Amino acid sequence: MTTQYAHLYGPVPSRRLGLSLGVDIVPAKVCTLDCIYCQIGRTSLATLVRKPYLPASEVLAELSDRIGQGLACDYITLTGSGEPTLNTELGCLIDQIRTLTHIPIALITNGTLLYDPAVRFDAARADVVLPSLDAGNEAAFRKINRPCLDLAFQTFLQGLIDFRARYQGRIWLEVFLIEGVNTSDAEIQSLKDCIARIRPDKVHLNTAVRPTAEPGIKPLDPALLQAIAQRMGPDCEVIADFPIAHPHHLPESLHSLAQADQTAESIFAMLKRRPCSIDDLCSALALTRTAALAALKMLTAANRICTTSKAGRVFYAPAPDTPPTDS
Ligand code: SF4
Repeated sequence: MTTQYAHLYGPVPSRRLGLSLGVDIVPAKVCTLDCIYCQIGRTSLATLVRKPYLPASEVLAELSDRIGQGLACDYITLTGSGEPTLNTELGCLIDQIRTLTHIPIALITNGTLLYDPAVRFDAARADVVLPSLDAGNEAAFRKINRPCLDLAFQTFLQGLIDFRARYQGRIWLEVFLIEGVNTSDAEIQSLKDCIARIRPDKVHLNTAVRPTAEPGIKPLDPALLQAIAQRMGPDCEVIADFPIAHPHHLPESLHSLAQADQTAESIFAMLKRRPCSIDDLCSALALTRTAALAALKMLTAANRICTTSKAGRVFYAPAPDTPPTDS
């Protein structure tokens, strides 16, 4: 029987973190922002006040149990149905997790509280920090992120800059782009200028491919997103999970061989990291089941993959003579 946890989810395949066990450390939806694109919904408590929203002991008891059952993942990821740095137990929680496991710890944060030295101190205990920056100026910040009134854009930006100056771990900055909102030449340039000051290790571009808090939030065209990634520089990549259309719903002329090949290659790259079920692949790569099956058939016909079975589930893996990947 699978144990149900209140604060843990996964491990789930993640574009940025491989296989990640999510640890939710603030309740829905307590946040410093109320982003128009939020996938959780509107913020119910907008606040800059830190406190023990969830006691570390409660989260640790679950984590200890989960690790005891045999946890295999790339990261334990502290996040929340809101902003995790609002929880004053964050630093102590990271220290305690390190006594339980050697699995690296990631922190997904909107980064708005990094102006506070205590938050920087807590966040710096993680192995990788994934903050967000969607605006390059006060007006865009207010329009997209709808921050608490007391939070000024320059304070937020300076917090990110100060954090980078001391933090020895990796910073992967996520930028969420919305068609017609922060995608003009001027907005992209101001974002680029801010990013140059923050100096993250990587920049990840995302867009609205899932339901959002507000209606009418439009995703950016994939080609445009790629063009912006190029403009941002070599450390920038697109991480948006664009759904791949059902191949049978497209006229043959539109369903190019190149696209089918690309799907198969994405699947193969993921299988080189670890065996996956079809559900893992669909969820990680935002594929329909039919599209995933079609690509798996192609890879099987080419003798590039094989299947194994565990606990009644089928897993796909590279064929035995396929060299392992180093990623
Ligand atoms: S920071 Fe994250 S949780 Fe908070 S409103 Fe924005 S997207 Fe939602």
